[in-house]
Amino acid sequence: MATLEIRDLHVTVEADNATKEILKGVDLTVKQGETHAIMGPNGSGKSTLAYALAGHPKYTVSSGTVTLDGEDVLEMSVDERARAGLFLAMQYPVEVPGVSVSNFLRTSATAVRGEAPKLRTWVKEVREAMERLSIDPAFAERNVNEGFSGGEKKRHEILQLELLKPKIAVLDETDSGLDVDALRVVSEGVNRVRESGEVGTLLITHYTRILRYIKPDHVHVFANGRIVESGGPELADTLENEGYEAYTKGGASE
Ligand code: ADP
Ligand code: MG
Ligand code: MG
Repeated sequence: MATLEIRDLHVTVEADNATKEILKGVDLTVKQGETHAIMGPNGSGKSTLAYALAGHPKYTVSSGTVTLDGEDVLEMSVDERARAGLFLAMQYPVEVPGVSVSNFLRTSATAVRGEAPKLRTWVKEVREAMERLSIDPAFAERNVNEGFSGGEKKRHEILQLELLKPKIAVLDETDSGLDVDALRVVSEGVNRVRESGEVGTLLITHYTRILRYIKPDHVHVFANGRIVESGGPELADTLENEGYEAYTKGGASE
């Protein structure tokens, strides 16, 4: 079973000629087959955690460790992270001009699997995955994220997730900006991947809404750059009723 281990992670960014510490000691372990939700107010550093895991150059790890099955993730290039089985879906996905969804998926699958998928089975795999996510077949010929609606971006993420079958998936605000129908389709995709038992999921979200469709095994409250409380699914209900106020006194912004 693959295990992602984050230990005492501190991350800084350069802003206004000053170094600002955003993550202040994050500890978290996610195993294949588990679903974790990280929930917290805006500005608490949730996306910074996702960027640091993705190896974004703007986010400097000043101390702490991240390992996947004991291998140092922070030493890996972005490609190596994907090959090691880490999948990261960002809150604001970037456009990839001139690269179609179809090419992008095949290139990604080739990188992750170490060989190009056989064309005939691959075309079928993609078509079926798109059907499950109610994605129009014409979508495959569009350029990645160019002019995509919020819902299309998120469906595209889940399409990648289903096709790439990572060991650990980090999904940053996969629920934001989705209407109820899109939220259901996206959640069903996450649940399908989960049922395989082969993917560990870290679901980062501001809203409790998605947790009506995806039941996490573990819920963590994130505030002011750290996990301040962890519990079972019942913690999400408490947050839905009481908000984050109890966790943000004397610090984090909303
Ligand atoms: P969340 O995802 O929980 O809303 P973020 O990780 O996006 O929080 O942001 C946490 C804090 O770090 C915010 O105060 C934000 O302004 C700051 N921050 C994040 N990224 C950058 C950056 N690239 N440059 C400057 N400040 C940043
Ligand atoms: Mg935010
Ligand atoms: Mg965010």
